Amino acid sequence: MRRLHRNLPYPPLCTPYSSFPLVFRTLYPLLAGAILWIGIGVSGAQDATPASAPAIAASDVKRAEKVSLTTELEQKVIAETKSASEIMANLTYLSDVIGPRLTGTAALKKANDWTAEKMKAYGLTNVHLESWELPEGWERGFARGRVIEPDNQRVLQLASNAWSPGTKGEIEGDVIALNATNQSELAPYKGQLKGAVILMGPPVQLRDLAEMEKPGGMFFNALAPKQSGRGFGGFGFGRFREDFATKEGAAVILSDASAPLGLLSTGGPWLGADRPSASNRLPSVTVVHEQYAMLYRLATRPAPARTRIQIEVSNKFVPGPVTIYNTVGEIRGSGKPDEIVVLGAHLDSWDLGQGTLDNGTGVAVVLETARQLARCGTPPKRTLRFILFTGEEQGLLGSNAYVKQHKAELPRISACIIHDTGTGKVTGLGWTNRPELKPVIESELSVLKELGVEQLVARSFPGSDHVPFERSGVPSCMFNQEIAGYRIAHHTSADTLDMAHEPDLIQGAQVMAVTALRLANREEMLPRKSN
Ligand SMILES: [Zn+2]
Repeated sequence: MRRLHRNLPYPPLCTPYSSFPLVFRTLYPLLAGAILWIGIGVSGAQDATPASAPAIAASDVKRAEKVSLTTELEQKVIAETKSASEIMANLTYLSDVIGPRLTGTAALKKANDWTAEKMKAYGLTNVHLESWELPEGWERGFARGRVIEPDNQRVLQLASNAWSPGTKGEIEGDVIALNATNQSELAPYKGQLKGAVILMGPPVQLRDLAEMEKPGGMFFNALAPKQSGRGFGGFGFGRFREDFATKEGAAVILSDASAPLGLLSTGGPWLGADRPSASNRLPSVTVVHEQYAMLYRLATRPAPARTRIQIEVSNKFVPGPVTIYNTVGEIRGSGKPDEIVVLGAHLDSWDLGQGTLDNGTGVAVVLETARQLARCGTPPKRTLRFILFTGEEQGLLGSNAYVKQHKAELPRISACIIHDTGTGKVTGLGWTNRPELKPVIESELSVLKELGVEQLVARSFPGSDHVPFERSGVPSCMFNQEIAGYRIAHHTSADTLDMAHEPDLIQGAQVMAVTALRLANREEMLPRKSN
């Protein structure tokens, strides 16, 4: 229900249907309708007050009788965050003025400098940029293509995967579907791929649109559950298959964008040192799901039918090592300043959208938490350290570097808390496999229930900047959040400012602030696994 208070971006009737984000926006109300329906099913009794209801409902009286667990300071921070937050102003600047922040680009450095200035203006201390090195930078050029045989007038909607080389000018090639799930199935393709445009297997199966917003399963992609994990090329056989195509002299690899509604997506982890020297790899391009499926249907027709496309991709590598920065600022502890609670999000993003949900929202929440806790004028016992990591999307590179550079300090970091699942309300705290924390968290943080956090020790997910801390023994948590469009928009061209929902981001900052205060003011640091 909450989400429906947002201004749904209904496009005018003359909306051009060829524009991806607008197609998405045209269909979004349908999806929102489904959410409304689900929402009413879950909480209709509370929200749909009948006209004849008494002025004060019995449930309100009951609620008023409950004694709040929040301290006076927490109440103040919660109220101020609600009434005077800068979340949307910051998120708008980050999304619209700075734009997407691919690691290694000038835009990311601009975002580093801007967030550092914000932290200083908010009264944080020890504000600085901490460097780490990326082996090689990359700049997106253009990518265009069209089907030339059969002559079906299809202009292809495609985008280069990051750190992919370009084609050498415009090329034409036969489209061949490489249908192999193991090494022996590759044998028939030997000698067949010279100059070809390769489809990496059949199209993916997407969730139904109505399923996209349902909790459960993987929150970070739009694939039907049984296929989760697809779309992350480069692992195991996928990598072997790519190497095979390269050796056989193929020209380009096409992959399914794996997103609905004609959205483009990009991504791909950086596995060790595989991205630098990509000049000897094949250009890797994603095609919108619907067109990938069409190309697959065409390419798998029986002979003598042929499918050919024309394609040109232009990208640029920036010779490395390239210096990248995490933005860091602190509120120094008043009693145990050498002990630290880390609060973080990642500043970098993919570049087809605006990087709003992934992870501009987390950045805005961390900045707001910092702002409120600095202006309340009562520093907690331990130091609060706010870190905006970079290189997250290439494989947690900035947080890995941070943990390495701060090895000596790790035993004094009580906890690391990360906000990185888009705009949705925080519903749980995902502590990674730490049963020993349960009793402490449940007694210490039960106050969060007043802010709508249902699970204090919830399902934990890997894949964000809490992981290097966790691996180094620091109790770490990534917030569980409502889906709120994340499955659709994550890493796609629809990751834009209009997906953000202010009330839920305010709640995120309130939850982060109260968590920070509670953990930083505890008598002891959080307990650790004894090893
Ligand atoms: Zn993220």
